[in-house]
Amino acid sequence: MKQSLTFIPTLRETPADADVKSHQLLLRAGFIRQNTSGIYSFLPLGKRVLQKVESIVREEMDAINGVEVLMPAMQQAELWQETGRWYSYGPELMRLKDRHNREFALGATHEEVITSLLRDEIKSYKKLPLTLYQIQTKFRDEKRPRFGLLRGREFLMKDAYSFHATRESLDQTYEDMVQAYTNIFTRLGLNFRAVIADSGAIGGKDTHEFMVLSEIGEDTIAYSDASDFAANIEMAEVNVAYETSTEELKEVEKIATPDQKTINQIASFLNVQADRCIKTLVFNVDGELVLVLARGDHEINDIKVKNALKAKVVELATDEEIRNLMQCEVGSLGPVKIPVGVKIIADRAVAAIRNGVAGANETGFHLLNVNPDRDFGVNQYEDLRFIMEGDPSPDGNGTIVFAKGIEVGHVFKLGTTYSEPMNGTFLDDNGRSQPFIMGCYGIGVSRVMAAVAEQFQDEKGFVWPKAVAPYDVHLVPVNTKDDAQVALADDLYKLMKSYRYDVLFDDRAERAGVKFADSDLIGLPIRITVGKKAVEGLVEVKIRKTGETFEWKKEEILNHLQTFFSSLDN
Ligand code: ATP
Ligand code: MG
Repeated sequence: MKQSLTFIPTLRETPADADVKSHQLLLRAGFIRQNTSGIYSFLPLGKRVLQKVESIVREEMDAINGVEVLMPAMQQAELWQETGRWYSYGPELMRLKDRHNREFALGATHEEVITSLLRDEIKSYKKLPLTLYQIQTKFRDEKRPRFGLLRGREFLMKDAYSFHATRESLDQTYEDMVQAYTNIFTRLGLNFRAVIADSGAIGGKDTHEFMVLSEIGEDTIAYSDASDFAANIEMAEVNVAYETSTEELKEVEKIATPDQKTINQIASFLNVQADRCIKTLVFNVDGELVLVLARGDHEINDIKVKNALKAKVVELATDEEIRNLMQCEVGSLGPVKIPVGVKIIADRAVAAIRNGVAGANETGFHLLNVNPDRDFGVNQYEDLRFIMEGDPSPDGNGTIVFAKGIEVGHVFKLGTTYSEPMNGTFLDDNGRSQPFIMGCYGIGVSRVMAAVAEQFQDEKGFVWPKAVAPYDVHLVPVNTKDDAQVALADDLYKLMKSYRYDVLFDDRAERAGVKFADSDLIGLPIRITVGKKAVEGLVEVKIRKTGETFEWKKEEILNHLQTFFSSLDN
């Protein structure tokens, strides 16, 4: 492509409102433009990257027998009413009316549409399993659209849905999907992990998120430094064998702790370690106030509290609720001598505390030498805390480290969640009517592009991996008024194109400095500069990633290119 004929509006300055590196550079290098909050146009270079990401996704979906379809963005409200999501999805769902006042949603996801499609068409187990996918624009009115393409309100998603007659069949496709996703993100050169996204009620293997490790990620991942264990921090199980010290039990002692409220204040006031303190929180669990205990250096994970108590809604009690229940201020709460009938649950680490420190349930006082079982009872010991860096990995291999992650993909076993309310049924091999067993699998294609952009850049601009670079080669004649340079550049352009290289040919009559700066910004894998030595049939070559430069003879360029591209991993 001749650069004079395309549209690459590069910017010298970093746009002020772009908050992360990928967004800044996608704007600066002329790949995208924002229309309004969370809504973008893909300019020619951006569109090419997107298309390359799409191709990789398509190849890997097709390889596991996924079949591509295209479903509508406009979805009648009745479908969403069947599953109840019309009411539960909230303001993220974009809604509109047609001229007859009929209500519609702009598709945020397509479970309803696909279930309604297949329920009328697939009547027998003989037509199953079936995996359909599409690459299509999704609409979500995100509360905080940000980071450019990473969290848009209109974005491109690959969504796949699988239909099965048996659980085993779903398990098989799920496994295939995990492999396909692994292939996709590996081919893109991304530093990613498949992360357990739920281990509580469902059982841990029914949903994984694919996370690209990145400091701007919104999720925290806990992973092992020695195995492939990785989980969303909210879900990571803590599997620690706490050792109880052999210290002799001492008498409880009440001590004045005026104005000392937090664990840190208490620990330094009393000159004890935080891990000797018992942290007491009061949660409102489906309307009942429950005391939840943890060791002073641990944080309670309310998702675990919710799962442990099989509750629907769990939230911290208000100060007023706490005062009414315990007759003291929050900073002096403890598990000893609590009102009759109040339930206590504790993290397993609490059981191992000897001669601990706890609030006295009297404002401004604490108790020393508090011991579980002797001084207070616990209804349930459970894993209730957040995992921490340095904890042993729950799979028994290695130590936990944290990283921030960008969720680029999600695989989920839906089971019959959609097929049951929507009457999506088929006849099994005994002639009995059964609801489809389903899975759904998403990849944020435009988010993936931004995640790649975030990872592959340096201070000068992008350093695109071959797999998604908008072009393979940047061909840059230095002086477009020099006949020898123009003639050689034209020859090389035709030659490389005839060998199926994607070439961006900077035929613009710009200063060399401008051309080189743009070229570094755009970040194609290799640049071929045609300069003063054109008369001798020599060009200067620069590898974008390493900065290495070479001089190549024009007859040897094809060989060199072949060697270079085959040496790249992606
Ligand atoms: P998030 O927690 O980031 O909001 P989600 O759980 O809502 O994601 P899914 O419903 O599982 O996401 O959607 C599938 C994929 O679509 C996600 O893994 C992500 O890559 C992408 N995605 C979701 N929301 C957005 C968005 N607002 N902009 C761009 N991509 C998105
Ligand atoms: Mg979301």
